[in-house]
Order: sequence, then C-alpha cells, then structure tokens
Amino acid sequence: MPRPWHPGALIGFSAALHAAAAAGVALRPEAWPWAAGAVAANHGLLTAAGLLPRCSLLGTNWTRLPGTAAARGEIALTIDDGPDPDVTPRVLDLLDAHRARATFFVIGRLVREHPALAREIVARGHAVENHSEHHLKTFSLHGPRWLVREIGAAQDTIAEVCGRTPRFFRAPAGLRNPFLEPVLARLDLQLASWTRRAYDTRNGDADAVASRLLDGRDGKMRSGDILLLHDGNAARTSCGRAVILEALPRVLDGCRASGLIPVTLEHAIP
Ligand SMILES: [Zn+2]
Repeated sequence: MPRPWHPGALIGFSAALHAAAAAGVALRPEAWPWAAGAVAANHGLLTAAGLLPRCSLLGTNWTRLPGTAAARGEIALTIDDGPDPDVTPRVLDLLDAHRARATFFVIGRLVREHPALAREIVARGHAVENHSEHHLKTFSLHGPRWLVREIGAAQDTIAEVCGRTPRFFRAPAGLRNPFLEPVLARLDLQLASWTRRAYDTRNGDADAVASRLLDGRDGKMRSGDILLLHDGNAARTSCGRAVILEALPRVLDGCRASGLIPVTLEHAIP
C-alpha cells in the first residue's frame, strides 16, 4: 500500500519558485538571467540538502526515535552494509549475549548471496530493512524510475528471502535527491538516518568508535538516539578484526549502565 507523499518544505518552495520564474520570463523575457539565477541557486540548495544525511528538508527523516519510544527509555542500534558471512554471525552472538535487538540495513545483492544468514538475523529477533539492492556510490544521481527499480528490487529480495517486507529505507552513504521521497512514499517506506555515527568504515580504533557513540560531540547517549554501525565494509582494528566486534560490547555495556533498552526501529513506530 503506498502512503501519501507530503513534500518537504524545500520541495514546496522549489516548485513555487520554478513556477514564479517561468511566469516571470513569460511576462518580462528580458528578466531571464534573474530567473535562471534563482533556479540555479535553488538547485544548489536542493543538492546541499541531499548531501546532508540528517536533513529533513526533502521529506520526513527519522534522525531519532519517536517521543513515545524515547519516553520508554528505548534506543536503536542500526547496523549497515551486510549481511557479511564473517562479521554478522559474531555480531548476532554479541547481541544475544546482551539480550539486545538491532536493525540491520541490508544490501539486497548480499541477501541473495547469503540467504541463510539473512534469515538467521530475523530468526534471532532482529529486523532487516532496505539499504538498496546494489549500494552504488552513484545512488543519489539517478531519477525516479531507476530509484523505484533499485529500491523495489531490494524490497522484493528481502521479502522473498526473509519473508518480511521492510518498513524503513536508508540511502547508501545517506546521500539523496528530491526524487527519493515520493519513491519511498510509493513503496510505503520511511527514510531513517541516525542520531550518532562513528565513521566505523574508516576508523579502526574501537575505543574511539565506542566513545564517539557513547559520549560524542552532542553529549552523552540518551534515550531515543539512533546509533549507526557497520557489519559490512567495517574498518579493521590493528589486529585485523572488524571494528564493530570490539566496539559493540562497549556500546551495549554503556546502554545497560544508562538503563537504555536497544529495540528495533519497527518496535519504535508509535
Ligand atoms: Zn551503507
């Protein structure tokens, strides 16, 4: 079932500006350089909004859990870019040991490569959500038709393999364009970004990764936060281990010490 598309503030403004520029040029053709300049500046603004993963000017974007979940002391661990046959099983063991639930933003292509592992994530009580079919670096450069195919393919892959249709989408590297939100509305998906991330695809220092999540620039971790870690594409520690395997136990200990309960994003839907 598609959901209604509510254009973000910037989309409404941009549409009005384009209409005004067209009307202005029709009435006063000599004013075309002003109209062209205004439209170009507007496109710059739209591009900038798409480059900021936590920005909600292009459409609704979960950067925190809803207030009802935060009031219950809940927090969300989101784990991207898997499933990975070496790292994900160990992440699942760590989550089990701490009785924590997490949300895995999986890549459709990897779900097809490792279907049993994808099913195991769900069987052990976690959620699998849509992180696109191919996780291409050029994701945000494509138009609506391509986006429907790419995101729809991952919906189909995950539904077919895991028996469950995703409710959330996260853009590769968080990069978006103005066509994404109407496509997500059509596929009944909610965009989710994060409150805190630790750049753990580049930083192999587990202490730095954990402390950035627990006590980053925005102060101490608190209820309602959405944390971002990676089981796929993970940076390696000096011993060659995926950094999540050393950082996650510290983050989970930190949750317990603060009385925070890790839940899936789906669980937090009001
Ligand atoms: Zn990713």
